[in-house]
Amino acid sequence: MMVMPPDYPKILIVDDKPQNLYTLERLLIKLDVLVFQATSGFDALALTLEHDFCVAIIDIQMPEMDGYELVEMLRSNQATASLPVIFVSAIYSDEYHHRKAYDTGVVDFLSKPFVPEILLSKVNVFIALYHQRHRLQTLVKQLNAANDEILRFNQELEDKVNERTEELQRAYRQLELLDRNKSDFIQVISHELRTPLSVFTGYSQLLLNMPQIQSDEMLSRMVSNLHTSSLRLKDIVNAMLEVVKVDSQTLELHYVQVSIADLLDLVYRGFRDALTERNLSLEMVGVADLPLIEADAQALHKVFKNLVNNAIKYTPDGGQITIRGQLQKDEEIAPAQSFVHIMVCDTGIGIDSEVQELIFTKFYHTGDASYHSSGETKFKGGGPGLGLALAKGFVEAHGGRIWAESAGYDEHTCPGSQFHVLLPF
Ligand code: ADP
Repeated sequence: MMVMPPDYPKILIVDDKPQNLYTLERLLIKLDVLVFQATSGFDALALTLEHDFCVAIIDIQMPEMDGYELVEMLRSNQATASLPVIFVSAIYSDEYHHRKAYDTGVVDFLSKPFVPEILLSKVNVFIALYHQRHRLQTLVKQLNAANDEILRFNQELEDKVNERTEELQRAYRQLELLDRNKSDFIQVISHELRTPLSVFTGYSQLLLNMPQIQSDEMLSRMVSNLHTSSLRLKDIVNAMLEVVKVDSQTLELHYVQVSIADLLDLVYRGFRDALTERNLSLEMVGVADLPLIEADAQALHKVFKNLVNNAIKYTPDGGQITIRGQLQKDEEIAPAQSFVHIMVCDTGIGIDSEVQELIFTKFYHTGDASYHSSGETKFKGGGPGLGLALAKGFVEAHGGRIWAESAGYDEHTCPGSQFHVLLPF
């Protein structure tokens, strides 16, 4: 027996006369199909329950159950209700019987003796439909498999994201704890340092005023250096204590009417010698026209002192520092509010875009720490990395905003930096 591929379309032929079945099968076998024979309506029903046929070719006249009854039975079963049926009849080929056949859901009608080409072409339509259905089913299966794969992949991804989120949250909690420990440590150390430092500053001041020291140039210089260093250390310790207050949001601001122009003038006077020494020019544009604002004068003085100090430190000798002032709105934090916008711009080494936000975190400084000299206003002179963190804390405590802009870091081309401060007024 010839073994046919299992996905060949199956055709059911039903006739009570074996001779007719034989002729029909001989004809159909020319197509790539599997032909199933049934000599009665009951046999045909049994076969339709077992196989999925693409078409059934049914003789109308049969004893026990005729073609009409068989089709009715097929239509009443959900599994076979849509099985296409072609009726074949030698005597019922008038219009009445055709209509009766179509009413039962028969798709086509052939009168005996039939023309083989016509039969084959009709059957071919159903074979093509079968193949189409088959291809669709395969596509649906593939789609379902792909869908399952996507769902599985999504689930895996979600699990991974959840896992990573948990890890990140854990790491974040640990960092928070470490940061709190660091803040506690800074606070304890700063408090411990304050008393001996006051003694140191007080006595060095006392020594400076003593005639015996003043009369000896070398001693006087040494004591003066000691005194200046102790004052610098005091500033650092105070900055550390203030940073702890920023972190714990316990900064206390004392609001008064502040003239930004006066404040900046005070800052300028504090750096006049350094600017001359480093051959840097400082220009103010639009600052004198700014209105008075309600602010903590001391806190703002520290903010601008730090920004100008940094502009001096990170600009090579002979450079230019410009402070611009203007009034404006800030859509980002308060669309209805007016702000004083102060920009401190320099022609210095600039800041890499990747660290323009990071520089506002405490103890952050760019570059190699070993390059830092100890001078407060020397080119690239080092600091503890607290100035901008404090400036941000002070500005935000006023309801303002501070940020840096720069085309990048380059010590040769010096693209410069711009620090922006927005303060509500
Ligand atoms: P520091 O005490 O190191 O100056 P800051 O908090 O004031 O600390 O500044 C942090 C870092 O930001 C500095 O180490 C420096 O790398 C960078 N920085 C600040 N201002 C400027 C500037 N005007 N030009 C270039 N880099 C700057």
